[in-house]
Amino acid sequence: MADKRDMVQIEALEKYFGEDKERVQVLKGVSLNIPEGSLYTFLGPSGCGKTTTLRCVAGLERPDGGKISIGGQAVFAFGERVYVPTNKRPIGMVFQSYAIWPHMTVAENVAYPLTIQRKSKAEIRQRVTDVLKVVGLDGLEDRPAPKLSGGQRQRGAFARALINEPKVMLLDEPLSNLDARLRVQMRSEIKALQRRISITTIFVTHDQAEALAISDQIAVMYGGKLIEIGSPHQLYNRPKRRFTATFLGLTNLIDGKVLEVDGDSRPGKMQTKKGILSFIPAPGLKKDQAAVISIRPENIPVHKEKPQSLDNVVEGTVKEAIFMGDAYHCKIAVGDDLLAVHTHPFNTISPGDKVFLHLDPKSCNGLPAEDTEGVDESILGD
Ligand code: ATP
Repeated sequence: MADKRDMVQIEALEKYFGEDKERVQVLKGVSLNIPEGSLYTFLGPSGCGKTTTLRCVAGLERPDGGKISIGGQAVFAFGERVYVPTNKRPIGMVFQSYAIWPHMTVAENVAYPLTIQRKSKAEIRQRVTDVLKVVGLDGLEDRPAPKLSGGQRQRGAFARALINEPKVMLLDEPLSNLDARLRVQMRSEIKALQRRISITTIFVTHDQAEALAISDQIAVMYGGKLIEIGSPHQLYNRPKRRFTATFLGLTNLIDGKVLEVDGDSRPGKMQTKKGILSFIPAPGLKKDQAAVISIRPENIPVHKEKPQSLDNVVEGTVKEAIFMGDAYHCKIAVGDDLLAVHTHPFNTISPGDKVFLHLDPKSCNGLPAEDTEGVDESILGD
């Protein structure tokens, strides 16, 4: 449901690529609303349509159906033949291959969008000074672009995208050219900058850790469709879809069939090969439905003796226990299945040990077994 505090509204967006027999639908009715001032991430595997959605917002692709509004103004409306060109949309962009021109200084790079608008020299100087301060590059105005570090170049690209005071920033995998350490540092910087200037930002990534770390809201996409939208906390701890549970972080899936369910606030019961297990149901889960329990490796306490007073305890045999410094990463055989379990590093368990796993019902999310049916696999990448 759209709200007037939504800065970007996308309704029933459709996009095809190719001609005739090669024609493939890559966006299949994507609808979402992006609240003003939020950092909103499109997350999904390669080829799911996140870049295409962003490019439609930017005006770099012309959709084949639907509507896009920015700040309450339609920039694209299929039926009404509205199409605002990129340079008239109130957006700033930083893409993967962010081009900081090597033959220019920092100030010239950042000033470029104003230079082509023929703004006065005094105005340009003032605005460049202001925006460089915002991104923390003040004092480096006259430095040639090639003499910047990777992180500084990235900030330069941000400054250039911000110079026109856009309403929305569009960031397409902006950190993917940086090394792992700088990536982590820059994502904190982006988050801090976005908070400080409170600019509505759309961030595209296929990196789930990056999405969890940076986002206010994440839209999980698969096969040209939205799978689920939520905060990082909601999506990680209480996913509603199997795809979300498996795509975001590591999880264990236990197959079963729903025996009892009563709304989504009370635990349900599921028949599984590991016995009857209690779980927290996803909305809409029904009795007799094929389902899975999703439980994260870090949420499974391991006991050496069978705990008498707990529900959802299963017996297993440790097959592997790898010391990772902050945890042991174990594989524990329970019946025919191997469950991934992360235990405290002081918890010494070894291959061959018999153990009891507490699959705490609060940590068990009951999800529909199949939730990506109808997705055309041919449009998926790797
Ligand atoms: P990635 O992370 O790999 O960029 P993505 O989720 O951003 O993936 P898109 O770039 O939106 O995916 O691409 C969605 C689908 O559309 C893919 O199957 C891609 O091959 C296809 N596609 C994208 N651009 C074009 C184009 N210009 N012509 C034909 N097909 C395209």
